[in-house]
Amino acid sequence: MHDILPEQCRYFAHVEKLAREVLTGYGYEEIRLPLLESTELFKRTIGEVTDIVEKEMYTFADRNGDSLTLRPEGTAGCVRGGIENGLLHNQVRRLWYSGAMFRHERPQKGRYRQFHQIGVETFGMAGPDIDAELLLLTRRLWRRLGLNDLELQINSLGTAAVRAVYREELVAYFIAHYELLDEDSRRRLQSNPLRILDSKNPALQDLIAGAPQLPASLDQESRAHFDELCRLLDAAGVVYRVNPRLVRGLDYYGKTVFEWVTDRLGAQGTVCAGGRYDGLVAQLGGRATPAAGFALGIERVVALLEEQATLPAAAPDLFLAVVGTEAERIGLLYAEQLRDANPALGVLVNCGGGSFKSQLKRADKSGAAFALVLGDEEAVQASVGVKALREGAPQQTWAWQDLLRTLAGCAAADLPRLLMRT
Ligand code: ATP
Ligand code: MG
Repeated sequence: MHDILPEQCRYFAHVEKLAREVLTGYGYEEIRLPLLESTELFKRTIGEVTDIVEKEMYTFADRNGDSLTLRPEGTAGCVRGGIENGLLHNQVRRLWYSGAMFRHERPQKGRYRQFHQIGVETFGMAGPDIDAELLLLTRRLWRRLGLNDLELQINSLGTAAVRAVYREELVAYFIAHYELLDEDSRRRLQSNPLRILDSKNPALQDLIAGAPQLPASLDQESRAHFDELCRLLDAAGVVYRVNPRLVRGLDYYGKTVFEWVTDRLGAQGTVCAGGRYDGLVAQLGGRATPAAGFALGIERVVALLEEQATLPAAAPDLFLAVVGTEAERIGLLYAEQLRDANPALGVLVNCGGGSFKSQLKRADKSGAAFALVLGDEEAVQASVGVKALREGAPQQTWAWQDLLRTLAGCAAADLPRLLMRT
């Protein structure tokens, strides 16, 4: 579990801000859900035989002896909350959330025990149009973030009946090559053979590449759904690759599945993954409700952004240097007056003393465009020195009230024009 330090928080905040804007623009509403759920919820939804439930959950008994689990993913809690609060029945919903998830995995680059997802869930829409919308909005988010090299892979898992037939074919295939399987895959052979296709073990990739393909046995309805999705994506110019071996680690998916992947993050190349999970709401006790969604791993998006460009810290617009006891007192009040007059300006007040010289060094380092300089003499005269930090202009003296009036309501971009009097 990592501490996310200020320099990285800039990237996190950037991703979260753009995601919020894009999602709001598509009519999605935010929902905030508990970090803790009953262990039973995840066993029922994710399935006993997935990696997550088998070995990745942080589970403990609370003071009442109830078994609770730190959420390893958000869909189960969102569906639970949706059912309990009557959000899903006979309605169309577009929801999203953002927050920490917990999985006891082997930590490595791009894989952590506390990580953060932006999750998007839609309910009440059965057709491929909403599947396409989910992909359009993710494409828009990548564009806004300047990520232009993510590859979209899609596949259809068909219905439960299709997967049951396919499962038999897969088991037969892998049994025929039993000696090539690793320990995990041998275990999954009986419990969840589709998961073998999702193995990250490089030694298995050839074997997996030769496995029977799911789309060959798709039912007519899933086929029509998938074909229409492809048509919608083609019409919108979304570039994708059909990957017949794409499956999801979670049990509740059917029909459409997709992943946005990159080759820039090594084995942890999936940045965003999702699909359709029409059976889940009923499985949790709600009325049968079609549903589709995805989750995006914020750490992996941040890793891509960090490689690509540095996000500088947001600089204040004005740095207020204060030297002398009286100036220090008045400086705090002046800064408040300035913020009252213009909430849009960032004002950083020097705290903790220091000579003018050292304070102006800090001012420079802060990235502010101007320093306001207040000594005891200025404090007595209700004036303030104004010093341009990015240009070689000489310091000017302003009456404080004049300055306040001049800056009221202005935009940061106007500062040079307003403050560089000749
Ligand atoms: P993987 O195949 O990489 O283990 P997954 O199938 O377990 O992923 P999902 O449960 O679909 O992943 O989660 C959606 C996204 O959340 C992933 O595509 C990834 O970007 C991110 N993610 C999942 N697990 C982790 C983790 N332990 N650390 C960081 N990000 C993660
Ligand atoms: Mg995983």
